[in-house]
Amino acid sequence: MSQRITRRAFTRAGVGAVTPVAATFGALSLEAARAAKSPQPGTGSAAPPDVDALEVRPYQLMCIVCRIGEGRTDDLGDARLNEILAAARRDRKIPIRLRCQCDTVYRYQNPGTDENTPEGDLFNAKRDLDIIQKLGLVPGDARPAIDMFERLLLNVPTATGICGYETATGDAWRGCARAASGHYEKGHALGIKAILPPRDAEEKARFKKASAEAVYEAETLRIRPHHLMCMSCFYGARMENLAPIQEDNLFEAIDAIQKNPEIPVTLVAGCCMICPPCSHYEPETNLCLGGRSMALRDQKKDLDVLQKLGLQYGDTLPARKLYELLYQRIPSTRDVCGYGDGEVRAPEWSICGDPEGKETYRKARAAMLGIKS
Ligand code: SF4
Ligand code: SF4
Repeated sequence: MSQRITRRAFTRAGVGAVTPVAATFGALSLEAARAAKSPQPGTGSAAPPDVDALEVRPYQLMCIVCRIGEGRTDDLGDARLNEILAAARRDRKIPIRLRCQCDTVYRYQNPGTDENTPEGDLFNAKRDLDIIQKLGLVPGDARPAIDMFERLLLNVPTATGICGYETATGDAWRGCARAASGHYEKGHALGIKAILPPRDAEEKARFKKASAEAVYEAETLRIRPHHLMCMSCFYGARMENLAPIQEDNLFEAIDAIQKNPEIPVTLVAGCCMICPPCSHYEPETNLCLGGRSMALRDQKKDLDVLQKLGLQYGDTLPARKLYELLYQRIPSTRDVCGYGDGEVRAPEWSICGDPEGKETYRKARAAMLGIKS
C-alpha cells in the first residue's frame, strides 16, 4: 500500500461496551465464581450485545501486518489502520466485516473508492478480491477479529502477487511500493501475538490456582456438556500418567469425579469450571475466543451432547450416572466432534482429532473414565 490512506466515514467500532481486563485477584474470584455459579448464555436466547461490525477493506488487514513487520507496534503511521488495530486489540472478538469494490451481485456491500490507496482503482479492486479469495471468504463476510487475522496469517503468507507483481504489465499494475520490502512477510512471521497480544501469563496462573481450588471445593461441578467428552479424551491420552496441566482444569474435574463418583454435575452453557486458566478464555465475558470460531463449534457440540443424552442445560446428575449415559449414547467422538459424518465443510467446522473418532475417547470409555464401580 501507499504511504497515505484516505479516510472514509466508516461505521464506528462498537468497542465501548467492553470492560477493562480483570487485573486483580478480586476480579478473578468473581469470574471464577461466575464461571462456576451463574446462569450462562448458550441457548441462543441471550440478547446480543450492542456491537457494530468494524468495516474493513481486505488490504487493510494486510497493511496492518506489513506495518508491524516494519517494526511498528501501536502507531502504524496511518490513522485508519491505527483505528482498526486499536479496536481489535480492545476487543479481540469484535466482528470485522470485509467490504470490496464489487459491481456485481455483491454490490450491496460495495464501500466505494474513498479508502482506495493511490495506485489506482483497478489495482485496488483486484488486490481486495485477491485477498478475499485466498481467505476463502466473500465480500460482506464477517468474522471475529481474532479469527479474521488468524485466517489471514494461515492463508496469505506473502504480499508477492497480491500487493505487487513480478512484472509491471502496465501503468495500472505497478502495485504498492512496499510490496517487495519484505515487511509483510516479517509481520507474518511474527504471528498473531504481534497483532493481538495474548492473555497475560501471570493472570492465567492466578486463574489456574483459584479455579482449580474451586473445582475441589465445589459440592456440585458445573461443566459444559461436551467437556465431559474432552475430559474423556484427556484421560484416555494419559491414563498411566494422569496429572494437572496449566492450561485448563480437565484433570481436576476428572480427579474430583474419581474421588467422589456420586458428586452432582450440573450441565451449564458456555465456558465452565474447566476454562478459567485457558489461553482462549476471556474473563470479562466468560467467552471462549479459541481459533477458527471454536466457540461456534463448541456450542453445537454442547447441544449435540444434550440432545443425544435427552438432557437440558441446568440438569444435574451424579457423575457416575452421567458418564454411564454419555458412554452408552455417545460411543465415539465421531458422533459429536466429527458431526456424525467426519466431514469438514469449512474452517469454522473443523474436526478435533480423528474424523473417525479419537482412540483416546474409546480408551476412556472402555475404562469408564477410571471411575470405580
Ligand atoms: S475430540 Fe471432541 S471430545 Fe475429544 S478433545 Fe476434541 S473436542 Fe473434546
Ligand atoms: S478452548 Fe475454550 S472451551 Fe476449551 S477450555 Fe479453553 S476457553 Fe474453555
